[in-house]
Amino acid sequence: MNAKELDSKYIAGTYSRFPVVLTHGRGSLVYDEEGREYIDMGSGIAVNAFGIADSGWIGAVTAQLGKIQHGSNLYYTEPGALLAQQLCERTGFRKVFFANSGAEANECAIKCARKYAAGKYGAENRYKIVTLKNSFHGRTITTLAATGQDEYHRDFQPLTPGFLYAEANNCEALRELAGGDDSIAAIMFEPVQGEGGVLPLDKEFVQCIASICAERDILMICDEVQTGNGRSGTLYAYMQFGIVPDIMTTAKGLGGGLPIGACLMGEKVKDTMTPGSHGSTFGGNPAVCAGALNILSRIDDKLLAEVRAKSEYIVNELKAAPGVESVDGMGLMLGVKTAKPVGDVVAACRENGVLALTAHGKLRLLPALNIPMELVEKAVAAIKAACAV
Ligand SMILES: *Cc1c(COP(=O)(O)O)cnc(C)c1O
Repeated sequence: MNAKELDSKYIAGTYSRFPVVLTHGRGSLVYDEEGREYIDMGSGIAVNAFGIADSGWIGAVTAQLGKIQHGSNLYYTEPGALLAQQLCERTGFRKVFFANSGAEANECAIKCARKYAAGKYGAENRYKIVTLKNSFHGRTITTLAATGQDEYHRDFQPLTPGFLYAEANNCEALRELAGGDDSIAAIMFEPVQGEGGVLPLDKEFVQCIASICAERDILMICDEVQTGNGRSGTLYAYMQFGIVPDIMTTAKGLGGGLPIGACLMGEKVKDTMTPGSHGSTFGGNPAVCAGALNILSRIDDKLLAEVRAKSEYIVNELKAAPGVESVDGMGLMLGVKTAKPVGDVVAACRENGVLALTAHGKLRLLPALNIPMELVEKAVAAIKAACAV
């Protein structure tokens, strides 16, 4: 049996995959088992920050693999400590908890918010978390509860209690929901709703969240699992909204292709998590952290300027293209509303040698941060052809 047949026989049916078996790649080019070449405009859902088989990242990971691949959190190892130092120094956050995925990073944020509120106000008094409608925060029972989309909740009730959902970009409604309620511990949001259709929040609304949080000692949690690590055109997207979250989570691109999640805690909550309050067997794995340190160190001002320039090019080209209704997003995280059904557009892109993604009925583009301009131009031409009606 080939990979497709084995997969459908033995792998749980949670994914509807595109009909392509990927075998290898280099940078932003990826190849299938028939030897076809594609320009990768999805980078493994914003994970392969510097593309496929990046030599600097491979070097960092393999050097660490040759020393010690895992030490457990009972001992100190250097890569995680250096990574946490750089994360804190470049953001102003004070402490980092390492996990293995976005959902787990969010679990840590939720536990941290509840523990902070319980310690200060009493556990029964303040435990609720407000999230936004159309959000996405993960697949565990608690992060599903945080996800403000009914279709993800169906079949899995009862979910973790204590989550309330506010309409995005409606400050008045949020004030009504959270303004007079002393049982709210935190407000959690994605600066750009990714799975929800690549929709950036309005700056005024994000500042409204910040002011409600400041007035009422409600913690502000920013989910940057997808927007983080240069994806938005700044190191973290919150930096473009004039706010300072109390807790920020990130994952996807941070590991350059290996599993990592991080929960960053600011001044208010830097000492909230104490021995025994949380943990992870694999979290902070030295090989993964050595790779992440390589990735994070290379997301510098020059690279971020290039991300913004490529974004501008793609947005301008696609906005003017026939069959394109709108282009939303930030940096190299873009959602394209197409006149044709998005499934047809993605299939046509693939026929034209471009791998693209979808989100809520839109075409979603998440190329590697260092995709060469020449490949951007080729991909845009192929996408335009696929969108044309
Ligand atoms: C992908 C994503 C998650 C979940 O991350 P996993 O690594 O799949 O657990 C959570 N939040 C946001 C905003 C995401 O985009």
